[in-house]
Amino acid sequence: MYSSKKMLEKLNSNNFNFKKKFGQNFIIDENIIDNIIKKANILPNSLVIEIGPGSGSLTKKLSKVAKNVLGYEIDINLKPILDDLENNVKIIYQDFLKSNIINDIKNYDYDNLYVIANLPYYITTPIVMKIIEDKLPVNKIIIMVQKEVGQRFKAKVNTKDYNSLSVYLQYYFDIKKIMDVSKNVFIPKPNVDSIVIELTKKELLPLKNEELLFKLVKDSFKQKRKTLKNNLKDYDLEIISSVLKEEGLNLNIRAEQLSLEQFIKIANRLD
Ligand code: SAM
Repeated sequence: MYSSKKMLEKLNSNNFNFKKKFGQNFIIDENIIDNIIKKANILPNSLVIEIGPGSGSLTKKLSKVAKNVLGYEIDINLKPILDDLENNVKIIYQDFLKSNIINDIKNYDYDNLYVIANLPYYITTPIVMKIIEDKLPVNKIIIMVQKEVGQRFKAKVNTKDYNSLSVYLQYYFDIKKIMDVSKNVFIPKPNVDSIVIELTKKELLPLKNEELLFKLVKDSFKQKRKTLKNNLKDYDLEIISSVLKEEGLNLNIRAEQLSLEQFIKIANRLD
């Protein structure tokens, strides 16, 4: 059984020093890990990718329910601590952002692919972007992230947290909160609270040109307080205006008032 006391002893006996630059805040509350595993509902014959196994507390439990676990850990000093994990776990000691994930998973045989991780918070968005941009055939992503960041990821239209990243992520995934996590369950204790969110791959809405949609969304939110008329000066405003009219809207609204479906409708008309 995993115990936080044992983990600390192991880290100490290996003279391990926590590195802030790698976002190293390790979970010391076993209940949190059990809860993540339970909520993840990992189906048989699954491959789980974990980013940043740390001392292996989550990894160990993942290895009991998944067929295989593939971890990416940047800190080679954790190798002696991670070496005695089960045989179905492989750890690659490298920066996840520089990894060739598609190549790394090609020899695994699995029915379901999940990413499950307590992320290093300094690179939360680049990690999620990489998963999307590398076209990882993932069924579900369950990640612990800084609370404010998670709230933006899942923010709905017409709320203050809604931004271009919310639209981008919600194009690919249904996103929901799984649980709140207090800063007191980590060592060292971070300055921020966390949440665990679940991103489930969804059926994509009919869209002619992804690149155009994401450029339109980014430009619409360029200056958040400004209206669409101001942010989208370089676009064909007549077309945009006519789509907005059909939606009972006009160019004087701000980007945060447009839903993903409405952005798609505009992008499809502009293409
Ligand atoms: N999974 C452990 C836990 O929950 O206790 C540790 C989580 S800790 C928040 C983040 C982990 O990510 C650390 O082990 C850190 O060394 C690792 N890490 C940081 N940057 C990384 C990167 N670019 N690629 C892979 N691992 C990274």
